[in-house]
Amino acid sequence: MSETEEKLIADGKRLDGREFEQLRPIQIEVKIINRANGSALVNFGETHAVASVHGPRALFPRWMQESDTGILRCRYNMAPFSVEDRKSPGPDRRSVEISKVSRLAIEPAIFLEDFPKATIDVFIEILQADGSTRVTGINAASLALADAGVPMRDLVTACSVGKINGVLVADLNGKEDNCSEADMSFAMLSTKKKITLLQMDGNVSKEELMILLNLAEKSCEKIYEMQKKALKEKYKRV
Ligand code: ADP
Repeated sequence: MSETEEKLIADGKRLDGREFEQLRPIQIEVKIINRANGSALVNFGETHAVASVHGPRALFPRWMQESDTGILRCRYNMAPFSVEDRKSPGPDRRSVEISKVSRLAIEPAIFLEDFPKATIDVFIEILQADGSTRVTGINAASLALADAGVPMRDLVTACSVGKINGVLVADLNGKEDNCSEADMSFAMLSTKKKITLLQMDGNVSKEELMILLNLAEKSCEKIYEMQKKALKEKYKRV
């Protein structure tokens, strides 16, 4: 049996009991690291991501500075203990790519032009990986930036969608991701509905693509409400 033929749906439900469009249980906590300017933890089921933000702060060495804008630096890292077989520590091709697309997904939200010669550093650490780690990390990073008081146009909200056993679903877990016919990572600025990340592996028809985009947007709207609630909770505590 090929990977894509693996049975991922039984009795009209996904193997973890979810409906097709249902997200995993989501937990969000803001301000979890004292030494960072901003931080957040986001759990999508068994995928756990922590983000910490440092800055805006002067960028050194000086030759890296941009005189008319600040820069955003983003590092995505999967902990060695985040997957079943230990992952070798340190950067690899995948983490370099995800760091870059995470930066590109987040950048449009930030008023970087307000911070010439400065840098904002975002560290995304995946503590536990069970699918959709890049989108979980982007949600955490966006909240950590807001927690750091970085001026933003909007929060960035991200989710995954895909096609498993011929069915279109939201928020793929690890097994679904590995055996999917297609999986898409999606991020947007919710208020303006501006898409900032769109990556897809696999094949879908044009009609299915439109349905997936719609499902991604609907899923992000749900996550956006949870992000706002978590931020408000934090300020209620302060
Ligand atoms: P994303 O996590 O954003 O969906 P990928 O599609 O590259 O990105 O990875 C899918 C899933 O595969 C991850 O969420 C994780 O569960 C698993 N995975 C990725 N890299 C490794 C690795 N080095 N070892 C074991 N599992 C991994």
